[in-house]
Amino acid sequence: MDNKIKKIVIAGGGTAGWMAAAALSKLLGKSFDICLVESDAIGTVGVGEAGIPTLTAFHRLLGIDEQAFMKATSATFKLGINFENWKNGDDEYMHGFGRVGKECWAGEFQHFWLHGKRKNINFDYGKYCPEIQAAKAKKFALSKAGLNYSYHLDATRYAKFLRSFAEAHGVKRLEGKIIDVTTHEKTGDITAIQLESGQVIDGQLFVDCTGFAALLIEKTLNTGYEDWTHWLPCDSAIAVQTNSVSEPVPYTRSIAHDSGWQWRIPLQHRVGNGLVFCSKYLSDDNAKTLLLNNIEGEPLTQPRVIKFKTGRREKAWNKNCVALGLSSGFLEPLESTSIHLIMSGILRLIRLFPFEGTTTSAVNEYNKQFTTEFEHIRDFIILHYHANERVNSPFWQDCKTMDIPESLKQRIDLFRETGRVFITESELFRADSWVQVMLGQGIYPEQYHQIAAIMKDHELTKFLGDIRQAIEKGVSNLPTHQAFLDQYCPTDVQPT
Ligand SMILES: Cc1cc2nc3c(=O)[nH]c(=O)nc-3n(C[C@H](O)[C@H](O)[C@H](O)COP(=O)(O)OP(=O)(O)OC[C@H]3O[C@@H](n4cnc5c(N)ncnc54)[C@H](O)[C@@H]3O)c2cc1C
Repeated sequence: MDNKIKKIVIAGGGTAGWMAAAALSKLLGKSFDICLVESDAIGTVGVGEAGIPTLTAFHRLLGIDEQAFMKATSATFKLGINFENWKNGDDEYMHGFGRVGKECWAGEFQHFWLHGKRKNINFDYGKYCPEIQAAKAKKFALSKAGLNYSYHLDATRYAKFLRSFAEAHGVKRLEGKIIDVTTHEKTGDITAIQLESGQVIDGQLFVDCTGFAALLIEKTLNTGYEDWTHWLPCDSAIAVQTNSVSEPVPYTRSIAHDSGWQWRIPLQHRVGNGLVFCSKYLSDDNAKTLLLNNIEGEPLTQPRVIKFKTGRREKAWNKNCVALGLSSGFLEPLESTSIHLIMSGILRLIRLFPFEGTTTSAVNEYNKQFTTEFEHIRDFIILHYHANERVNSPFWQDCKTMDIPESLKQRIDLFRETGRVFITESELFRADSWVQVMLGQGIYPEQYHQIAAIMKDHELTKFLGDIRQAIEKGVSNLPTHQAFLDQYCPTDVQPT
């Protein structure tokens, strides 16, 4: 059989489908026919509105104009995530996107901070991070500030924005419901998908972006799913949009409740809210009441329940089908990583692209990288749940006492015992992120690197003081987040 790719078929037009269409058409559109099938009747999951900084790189790669994108999607800037009540029910810390303090080759900044604490220089770790200080002051600017940032965006409008981009680069969109998928009798490769209208769409490479339905990768190819519910027991979410009652803050809020946590994602024209929870401890009805009691502003939509199973597909690339987005697996939105996973899946596919047909070695390499990336992020998310001191809730107690992956246990032990964090090159979250969350969740090192103790006391005081003052000065010169949005990318989207 001639496996040479002539046509790529993307099934599904949510964030995953249109991100894939945009990137593949921009980079490979002159070499292949690309078509995307989506169904307005089925619609998209409609959530997924907070990103991490890699999204800015994705847009740069595609040559997307940031101002046009932000106006079209009513986007705001995001400098981090504020975790509220995660440790003991009455606390907060921010996981900021930037670097914290200054490190030296022998040891990272936390060792100097810990030594400072021992010498009674008692400032929050976040005082040494420009992104956290700007976020708290509700300030933002681009180049002069050098802040690491991402966006909050309207998911439906983002798909539309990417659709225009992809169609301008030659992607053909087909409307309709997929009712059948045919496979080759000998190889098992997908040969075509069939729409309700009777139309048959054949191709050589199929990208499954059908969301939780996973029509190609699972319903057709029976790939299998590794279930991580025993580590990440939340299995439900309820989402509702509200009108804005105050200026958007440049960070996502993540507020822990007795059986889950709530997100607040501020856009220019509205706020996205939701509660992620565990159905073993909270019913859908009680979750709805809890969420509606904890929103600001009037609901603009009916609260909507979404069910999920945390885990990953056994293989994201199986035969001639690559799954992207929710069809490839699900890690809950605590660290806003799903859009990033779509992006990295697309880039991995482009780097391993099977121009002459699929090979086992390329498929294996893709799946190896996919697995490693998912597992690293999984560990980081489990950390937030496991390291808690909330005593009055069975849900949090179960999270605290559950077995955790050995890889995470080793990381926590190393930090608790020595103050050290090491990451591998392929990991998404840097040591800075791990330190911020471990400290925030109450894991405090018993020791630290004595490189920090080489400094004389007055040198340490000056070293730490200079960093704080430089950040304070830099932040005081920034415009407010709202003022910056108003001049840079004001949206004309109205709340609906
Ligand atoms: C509660 C929740 C909160 C989230 N928050 C975040 C976040 O803050 N940040 C983040 O990065 N990610 C977040 N995510 C993940 C994010 O929503 C998804 O990664 C993203 O929206 C991609 O979804 P998708 O395109 O894979 O699926 P979907 O949006 O569900 O799209 C599926 C597409 O397939 C089509 N389709 C399905 N079946 C058929 C059929 N039979 N025929 C034709 N077409 C079909 C649908 O019409 C649709 O176009 C969140 C997810 C959940 C559940």
